[in-house]
Amino acid sequence: MRLYDTHCHLDFSAFDKDRSQVVAGAQRVGVERFMLLGITEQQWSNLIKLCDDFSPAFRFSLGLHPYFIHQHQSTHINALASCFESLSDSARARCQAIGEIGLDATCEQPKLQKALLDQQLVLAKNYQLPVILHHRKTLDELLKSVREKRVEHGVVHAFSGSYEQAAAWVDQGFKLGIGGTITYERAKKTRDAIQRIGVEHLVLETDAPDMPLCGYQGRRNEPKRVAQVLQSLAKLLETSTEAISPVLWKNSTALFN
Ligand SMILES: [Zn+2]
Repeated sequence: MRLYDTHCHLDFSAFDKDRSQVVAGAQRVGVERFMLLGITEQQWSNLIKLCDDFSPAFRFSLGLHPYFIHQHQSTHINALASCFESLSDSARARCQAIGEIGLDATCEQPKLQKALLDQQLVLAKNYQLPVILHHRKTLDELLKSVREKRVEHGVVHAFSGSYEQAAAWVDQGFKLGIGGTITYERAKKTRDAIQRIGVEHLVLETDAPDMPLCGYQGRRNEPKRVAQVLQSLAKLLETSTEAISPVLWKNSTALFN
Protein backbone atom coordinates (compact mmCIF):
# COMPACT_ATOMS: atom_id res chain seq x y z
CA MET A 1 0.00 0.00 0.00
CA ARG A 2 1.40 3.38 -1.03
CA LEU A 3 0.44 6.22 1.29
CA TYR A 4 1.11 9.95 1.00
CA ASP A 5 1.03 12.15 4.09
CA THR A 6 0.12 15.34 2.25
CA HIS A 7 0.53 17.58 5.30
CA CYS A 8 3.12 17.10 8.02
CA HIS A 9 5.49 19.48 9.78
CA LEU A 10 8.44 17.12 10.08
CA ASP A 11 10.85 20.06 10.24
CA PHE A 12 9.40 21.17 13.60
CA SER A 13 11.64 20.84 16.67
CA ALA A 14 9.22 18.21 18.06
CA PHE A 15 11.04 15.81 15.71
CA ASP A 16 14.62 16.98 16.25
CA LYS A 17 15.54 14.05 18.48
CA ASP A 18 14.15 11.19 16.40
CA ARG A 19 13.27 12.45 12.90
CA SER A 20 14.90 9.52 11.07
CA GLN A 21 13.09 6.96 13.24
CA VAL A 22 9.77 8.78 12.75
CA VAL A 23 10.25 8.71 8.98
CA ALA A 24 11.33 5.04 9.06
CA GLY A 25 8.30 4.17 11.23
CA ALA A 26 5.99 5.80 8.71
CA GLN A 27 7.70 4.07 5.80
CA ARG A 28 7.18 0.71 7.53
CA VAL A 29 3.40 1.20 7.33
CA GLY A 30 3.54 2.29 3.69
CA VAL A 31 4.04 6.05 3.77
CA GLU A 32 6.20 6.71 0.73
CA ARG A 33 5.84 10.46 0.45
CA PHE A 34 5.67 13.36 2.86
CA MET A 35 4.64 16.93 2.07
CA LEU A 36 6.28 19.47 4.38
CA LEU A 37 5.02 23.02 4.62
CA GLY A 38 6.54 26.43 4.35
CA ILE A 39 5.35 28.63 7.21
CA THR A 40 7.67 31.66 7.59
CA GLU A 41 10.39 33.39 5.62
CA GLN A 42 12.87 32.49 8.38
CA GLN A 43 12.03 28.78 8.12
CA TRP A 44 12.33 28.17 4.36
CA SER A 45 16.08 27.60 4.13
CA ASN A 46 16.08 24.88 6.80
CA LEU A 47 13.02 23.29 5.24
CA ILE A 48 14.71 23.12 1.84
CA LYS A 49 17.86 21.67 3.37
CA LEU A 50 15.91 19.04 5.29
CA CYS A 51 14.05 17.99 2.13
CA ASP A 52 17.41 17.64 0.37
CA ASP A 53 18.59 15.33 3.15
CA PHE A 54 15.49 13.13 3.02
CA SER A 55 14.89 13.15 -0.71
CA PRO A 56 13.34 11.24 -2.51
CA ALA A 57 10.59 10.78 0.10
CA PHE A 58 10.10 14.46 0.95
CA ARG A 59 8.31 17.17 -0.98
CA PHE A 60 7.78 20.73 0.22
CA SER A 61 5.79 23.88 -0.27
CA LEU A 62 6.74 27.50 0.32
CA GLY A 63 4.43 29.99 1.97
CA LEU A 64 3.53 32.35 4.78
CA HIS A 65 1.20 30.69 7.29
CA PRO A 66 -1.44 33.05 8.76
CA TYR A 67 -0.87 31.60 12.23
CA PHE A 68 2.58 33.24 12.25
CA ILE A 69 1.26 36.62 11.13
CA HIS A 70 3.50 38.50 13.59
CA GLN A 71 6.60 37.17 11.86
CA HIS A 72 5.53 38.21 8.37
CA GLN A 73 6.31 41.46 6.59
CA SER A 74 4.98 42.72 3.31
CA THR A 75 8.50 42.31 1.82
CA HIS A 76 8.26 38.55 2.41
CA ILE A 77 6.16 38.16 -0.72
CA ASN A 78 9.12 39.28 -2.83
CA ALA A 79 11.33 37.05 -0.69
CA LEU A 80 9.03 34.11 -1.46
CA ALA A 81 9.29 34.77 -5.19
CA SER A 82 13.08 35.03 -5.07
CA CYS A 83 13.36 31.94 -2.86
CA PHE A 84 11.34 29.93 -5.38
CA GLU A 85 13.20 31.30 -8.37
CA SER A 86 16.62 30.63 -6.85
CA LEU A 87 15.94 26.96 -6.01
CA SER A 88 18.33 24.42 -7.48
CA ASP A 89 16.85 22.22 -10.21
CA SER A 90 16.47 19.28 -7.83
CA ALA A 91 14.85 21.43 -5.12
CA ARG A 92 12.55 23.02 -7.70
CA ALA A 93 11.33 19.55 -8.66
CA ARG A 94 10.42 18.89 -5.03
CA CYS A 95 8.80 22.30 -4.39
CA GLN A 96 5.28 21.36 -5.42
CA ALA A 97 2.91 23.88 -3.86
CA ILE A 98 2.43 27.30 -2.36
CA GLY A 99 1.48 26.77 1.28
CA GLU A 100 0.66 26.78 4.01
CA ILE A 101 -1.36 29.91 3.34
CA GLY A 102 -4.83 31.06 4.29
CA LEU A 103 -6.91 32.95 6.80
CA ASP A 104 -7.26 32.29 10.52
CA ALA A 105 -10.04 34.11 12.34
CA THR A 106 -8.44 33.38 15.72
CA CYS A 107 -5.26 35.27 14.74
CA GLU A 108 -4.70 39.00 14.53
CA GLN A 109 -4.23 41.39 11.61
CA PRO A 110 -6.99 40.13 9.30
CA LYS A 111 -6.14 42.79 6.70
CA LEU A 112 -2.49 41.75 6.46
CA GLN A 113 -3.57 38.09 6.42
CA LYS A 114 -5.86 38.79 3.47
CA ALA A 115 -3.25 40.85 1.60
CA LEU A 116 -0.61 38.11 2.00
CA LEU A 117 -3.11 35.43 0.99
CA ASP A 118 -4.13 37.26 -2.18
CA GLN A 119 -0.53 37.87 -3.24
CA GLN A 120 0.38 34.24 -2.63
CA LEU A 121 -2.62 33.08 -4.66
CA VAL A 122 -1.32 35.21 -7.52
CA LEU A 123 2.17 33.69 -7.14
CA ALA A 124 0.71 30.18 -7.18
CA LYS A 125 -1.12 31.00 -10.38
CA ASN A 126 2.01 32.45 -11.98
CA TYR A 127 4.09 29.42 -11.03
CA GLN A 128 1.25 27.02 -11.92
CA LEU A 129 1.45 25.43 -8.49
CA PRO A 130 -1.42 24.20 -6.33
CA VAL A 131 -2.09 25.88 -2.97
CA ILE A 132 -2.30 24.31 0.49
CA LEU A 133 -4.91 26.22 2.48
CA HIS A 134 -5.21 26.71 6.21
CA HIS A 135 -8.60 27.81 7.52
CA ARG A 136 -10.11 28.46 10.90
CA LYS A 137 -13.65 29.83 10.84
CA THR A 138 -12.80 31.20 7.38
CA LEU A 139 -13.81 28.48 4.94
CA ASP A 140 -16.32 30.57 2.95
CA GLU A 141 -14.20 33.72 3.02
CA LEU A 142 -11.25 31.71 1.69
CA LEU A 143 -13.30 30.28 -1.14
CA LYS A 144 -14.28 33.82 -2.14
CA SER A 145 -10.60 34.83 -2.38
CA VAL A 146 -9.70 31.68 -4.30
CA ARG A 147 -12.55 32.29 -6.78
CA GLU A 148 -11.59 35.94 -7.23
CA LYS A 149 -8.02 34.95 -8.08
CA ARG A 150 -9.24 32.04 -10.24
CA VAL A 151 -7.09 29.47 -8.46
CA GLU A 152 -8.28 26.03 -9.47
CA HIS A 153 -5.80 23.60 -7.91
CA GLY A 154 -5.12 22.96 -4.29
CA VAL A 155 -6.12 21.29 -1.08
CA VAL A 156 -8.21 22.45 1.85
CA HIS A 157 -6.02 21.23 4.69
CA ALA A 158 -7.88 19.63 7.63
CA PHE A 159 -11.24 20.01 5.95
CA SER A 160 -14.07 20.41 8.43
CA GLY A 161 -17.42 21.69 7.32
CA SER A 162 -20.74 20.80 5.76
CA TYR A 163 -21.44 18.81 2.61
CA GLU A 164 -22.44 22.06 0.85
CA GLN A 165 -19.06 23.60 1.70
CA ALA A 166 -17.23 20.45 0.60
CA ALA A 167 -19.13 20.44 -2.70
CA ALA A 168 -18.33 24.11 -3.34
CA TRP A 169 -14.58 23.46 -2.90
CA VAL A 170 -14.73 20.39 -5.11
CA ASP A 171 -16.49 22.48 -7.78
CA GLN A 172 -13.57 24.90 -7.57
CA GLY A 173 -11.22 21.99 -8.38
CA PHE A 174 -9.90 21.46 -4.85
CA LYS A 175 -9.13 18.30 -2.90
CA LEU A 176 -10.10 17.97 0.75
CA GLY A 177 -7.39 17.05 3.27
CA ILE A 178 -8.57 14.24 5.57
CA GLY A 179 -6.82 13.70 8.88
CA GLY A 180 -7.47 13.10 12.57
CA THR A 181 -10.81 14.94 12.58
CA ILE A 182 -12.71 12.04 11.00
CA THR A 183 -11.54 9.66 13.74
CA TYR A 184 -13.76 11.51 16.23
CA GLU A 185 -17.37 10.27 16.17
CA ARG A 186 -18.51 13.69 17.40
CA ALA A 187 -17.35 15.33 14.15
CA LYS A 188 -20.72 14.36 12.64
CA LYS A 189 -21.09 17.18 10.12
CA THR A 190 -17.61 16.68 8.67
CA ARG A 191 -17.91 12.88 8.63
CA ASP A 192 -21.23 13.16 6.82
CA ALA A 193 -19.72 15.59 4.27
CA ILE A 194 -16.77 13.26 3.58
CA GLN A 195 -19.03 10.26 3.23
CA ARG A 196 -21.18 11.99 0.62
CA ILE A 197 -18.48 13.78 -1.38
CA GLY A 198 -16.61 10.65 -2.53
CA VAL A 199 -13.05 9.39 -2.29
CA GLU A 200 -11.98 10.85 -5.64
CA HIS A 201 -11.90 14.31 -4.01
CA LEU A 202 -9.85 13.39 -0.95
CA VAL A 203 -6.21 13.20 0.13
CA LEU A 204 -4.79 11.89 3.42
CA GLU A 205 -2.79 13.92 5.91
CA THR A 206 -1.78 14.04 9.58
CA ASP A 207 -0.67 17.64 10.34
CA ALA A 208 1.96 15.99 12.59
CA PRO A 209 3.02 16.91 15.26
CA ASP A 210 -0.47 18.47 15.72
CA MET A 211 -4.04 17.16 15.45
CA PRO A 212 -3.71 13.79 17.22
CA LEU A 213 -6.18 11.07 16.31
CA CYS A 214 -8.95 9.91 18.61
CA GLY A 215 -7.30 7.80 21.31
CA TYR A 216 -3.99 9.68 21.06
CA GLN A 217 -5.02 13.02 22.55
CA GLY A 218 -2.19 14.88 24.25
CA ARG A 219 0.47 12.93 22.35
CA ARG A 220 2.67 13.96 19.47
CA ASN A 221 1.07 13.10 16.15
CA GLU A 222 3.21 11.28 13.57
CA PRO A 223 3.00 10.57 9.83
CA LYS A 224 2.65 6.81 10.48
CA ARG A 225 -0.85 7.53 11.78
CA VAL A 226 -1.94 8.30 8.23
CA ALA A 227 -2.49 4.52 8.01
CA GLN A 228 -5.07 4.80 10.80
CA VAL A 229 -6.73 7.77 9.12
CA LEU A 230 -7.02 5.52 6.05
CA GLN A 231 -8.67 2.81 8.16
CA SER A 232 -11.17 5.29 9.63
CA LEU A 233 -11.93 6.61 6.18
CA ALA A 234 -12.48 3.11 4.75
CA LYS A 235 -14.85 2.34 7.61
CA LEU A 236 -16.72 5.61 7.11
CA LEU A 237 -17.07 4.93 3.38
CA GLU A 238 -18.02 1.30 4.05
CA THR A 239 -15.23 -0.02 1.87
CA SER A 240 -11.74 -1.47 2.29
CA THR A 241 -8.38 0.27 2.66
CA GLU A 242 -7.18 -1.71 -0.39
CA ALA A 243 -10.01 -0.29 -2.49
CA ILE A 244 -9.41 3.37 -1.66
CA SER A 245 -5.65 3.67 -1.08
CA PRO A 246 -4.73 3.62 -4.82
CA VAL A 247 -7.31 6.36 -5.46
CA LEU A 248 -5.92 8.50 -2.63
CA TRP A 249 -2.35 8.01 -3.86
CA LYS A 250 -3.36 9.02 -7.37
CA ASN A 251 -5.27 12.08 -6.08
CA SER A 252 -2.20 13.19 -4.11
CA THR A 253 0.40 12.71 -6.81
CA ALA A 254 -1.86 14.28 -9.46
CA LEU A 255 -2.43 17.28 -7.20
CA PHE A 256 1.24 17.97 -6.55
CA ASN A 257 3.00 16.88 -9.74
ZN1 LIG B 1 -0.08 22.68 8.99
